[in-house]
Amino acid sequence: MNRPILTIVVPCYNEEEVFTETSFQLTTVIKELINERLVSSESTILFVDDGSKDSTWSLIEKESCSNLFVKGLKLARNVGHQNALLAGLEAAHKQSDCVISIDADLQDDISVIRTFVEKYWLGYEVVYGVRDSRETDTFFKRTTAVGFYHFMNKLGIQLVQNHADFRLMSKRALGELMKYKEGNVFLRGLVPLVGFRSTEVTYDRKERTAGESKYPLKKMLAFAFDGITSFSVAPIRSLTLLGGASFLFSIAFGIYALIQKYLDHTQIGWTSLILSIWLVGGLQLMGMGLVGEYIGKIFNEVKQRPKYAIERDLYTKHSLDKQKD
Ligand code: UDP
Ligand code: MG
Repeated sequence: MNRPILTIVVPCYNEEEVFTETSFQLTTVIKELINERLVSSESTILFVDDGSKDSTWSLIEKESCSNLFVKGLKLARNVGHQNALLAGLEAAHKQSDCVISIDADLQDDISVIRTFVEKYWLGYEVVYGVRDSRETDTFFKRTTAVGFYHFMNKLGIQLVQNHADFRLMSKRALGELMKYKEGNVFLRGLVPLVGFRSTEVTYDRKERTAGESKYPLKKMLAFAFDGITSFSVAPIRSLTLLGGASFLFSIAFGIYALIQKYLDHTQIGWTSLILSIWLVGGLQLMGMGLVGEYIGKIFNEVKQRPKYAIERDLYTKHSLDKQKD
């Protein structure tokens, strides 16, 4: 097997505080891999600037002038982690044999990259980085994450437990991933669907070296909710079940009320009335909300809007010539 061209894709959003260190550490790793002839000397690190408001892009640009291994892609605006990563993967797919995605904040263990490449040499096409411990995460993040994976599994959505977006994919696997044209990308759910020979590598997740998490509670909830509704119709099915159950309940309650009336025990109170109004009203609203959620999804999908726009490309070969044309 020829030495593969590796591209490490790093989405960055306001990461000026960690960029220099991340770039240094990744360059060290890539140089080692090249020296050991595990990857081709054409391997690169592709930083995707997701419309940062700080100096991240100028740092990338500056670094790419002095560091041969550093390349950059600047998106026209902030499109979110998943789309930014996708932009990097799509660019990298064209000119690499394998691609590793990693966050900019050094929370994932960079030394594991070597193991990823070794697995690639053994013929694995997808290698998942799996967090061994979550001790450095807050108690809240830990418990919500465990609950999320559990719930997704219950819904029949196969996710690799404790795997974020730190993974290696071969050109072939990536090519298949690119065929998934859905507008709302949830890469963690899509990659296992692609298949191919895959394995997991465990590592300890560290604390962010600097800067803050861009996933506050609100974003985390939206992410989990999107993940569920993009992949499963179980919520809508449970609604049908709930509707059926409340129908059975109302029949039973009706019979009970008739018997009470026949026995002259009726008390015309408003409790039962108000309860049923609230119950049915609540159920209906919930149902409408859920149905609306799916209609919203269809709405977004049919629009087929582009997921990102590239403003500057320091990565794609001959991109400068293309820009001149
Ligand atoms: N990120 C991005 N666009 C965004 C938000 C985040 O490209 O809109 C990047 C961010 O720079 C980081 C990665 O996605 O490299 C993961 O984000 P973060 O570390 O904030 O998430 P957490 O690790 O807290 O889940
Ligand atoms: Mg992080």
